[in-house]
Amino acid sequence: MPKDFVRLIFILLFFSTFFSFSQSDQIKDFTKTLCSPEFHGRGYVNGGDSIAAEYIAKSFKKIGLKPVRKSYFQSFDFPVQTFPGACTAILGGDTLRPGIDYLITPNSGSSCSTSQCLNGKSYRIVTCNLEKLYDSITSFYPCPPNVMIAVKTFGLSSDSLKVIKNRLLELSSFAPVVEITKDKFTWSVSQSANSYPFFQIQDSIFQKRKGDSFFLHLQTKFIKQHQARNVIGYIPACKKPKKNPFIFITAHYDHLGRMGADTYFPGANDNASGNAMLLALAEKLVKNPLTDYNIIFVAFAGEEVGLLGSKYMTENPIVPLNKIRFLLNLDIMGSGEEGITVVNSTLFKNEFDQLNSINDSSKFVSLIKPRGPAANSDHYFFTQAGVPAFFIYTMGPNKNYHDVFDTYNALSFKAFDGMSELFELFIRKL
Ligand SMILES: [Zn+2]
Repeated sequence: MPKDFVRLIFILLFFSTFFSFSQSDQIKDFTKTLCSPEFHGRGYVNGGDSIAAEYIAKSFKKIGLKPVRKSYFQSFDFPVQTFPGACTAILGGDTLRPGIDYLITPNSGSSCSTSQCLNGKSYRIVTCNLEKLYDSITSFYPCPPNVMIAVKTFGLSSDSLKVIKNRLLELSSFAPVVEITKDKFTWSVSQSANSYPFFQIQDSIFQKRKGDSFFLHLQTKFIKQHQARNVIGYIPACKKPKKNPFIFITAHYDHLGRMGADTYFPGANDNASGNAMLLALAEKLVKNPLTDYNIIFVAFAGEEVGLLGSKYMTENPIVPLNKIRFLLNLDIMGSGEEGITVVNSTLFKNEFDQLNSINDSSKFVSLIKPRGPAANSDHYFFTQAGVPAFFIYTMGPNKNYHDVFDTYNALSFKAFDGMSELFELFIRKL
């Protein structure tokens, strides 16, 4: 062979090895993309959830999932409060770090009376007397303009805490409020908007303050009808399907979005990882479809707002709900050092025994922990509608949940490959 030709072959071989990604590389890349700043935390600022929906639909199509009724999407809408712009908080001269030092309450109002809100506003922090507040809010009403009421919510009995938390809500209806807390920050999404700013600050930060001045520039935008989309892909059975011919594999793709223009919640474990598992299972099952079940994959929208995507689908089913043999809902799949938990295991004993017996033979995961029914993810409304379902999540040292630390780099993927084999075998044996 001519020397140049040998060299060419060698170069081609080198590059083909270099660029041939394994399935797990592709799955990790997919997860990382969902967590990137360009996806804006898959929420309601800059169309983050819509960007994610398009990307997931494209990924479904690429691996060979078919659309149901000619489209990969099911649309619905809901109201949502958002924080798309300025989010600056300066306490006693020190600029606070969003998501770390302070958190905006999901239904917080802006710092302005005008909608544009080009400038911030200065407040004076007044720490509230808890005993007075416990009795009633009357002595705090009306609140002088430019006063922000600070309320400590730690070191209380659980009964007192309940009362004080309710008082906080009452206060926030007529005054700007800041809750001083020692709890880990856990953010969420709200379908309603307050008239006044409402914050949480870490006690350690509050203690260190050099003064009681508080400058706040917070822009909010309430979206009355946010358009969201569930993403759906389909693998038909190879032969004639059974009487209940559908198996659903689901995971929500939405997360919390942005808290101001500069801070976003990546939602890596919750639930970019679940979508990665959806894709890993779809890739395996598309190559070797089930003989007598059609498999429908759904990436749900609006979960963090209150399971809205899955609720909508149970009210507007794409196939008759009584034709679904089983639904497997996957949320928080990025860890697994301490095994997995199966919600609804007490309701579906046979399927739970089956899952365990598959795992006993090969130890795909270190532990399968049973748990009763819970309204904590997208299986819930299906269960309520009589659809047999499991919700599975991983357990491990990754405790980053609904915070700015739930990043792609914090995912271990420890149990990922084991789980994907376990789930595939479980589905094949249904
Ligand atoms: Zn989740």
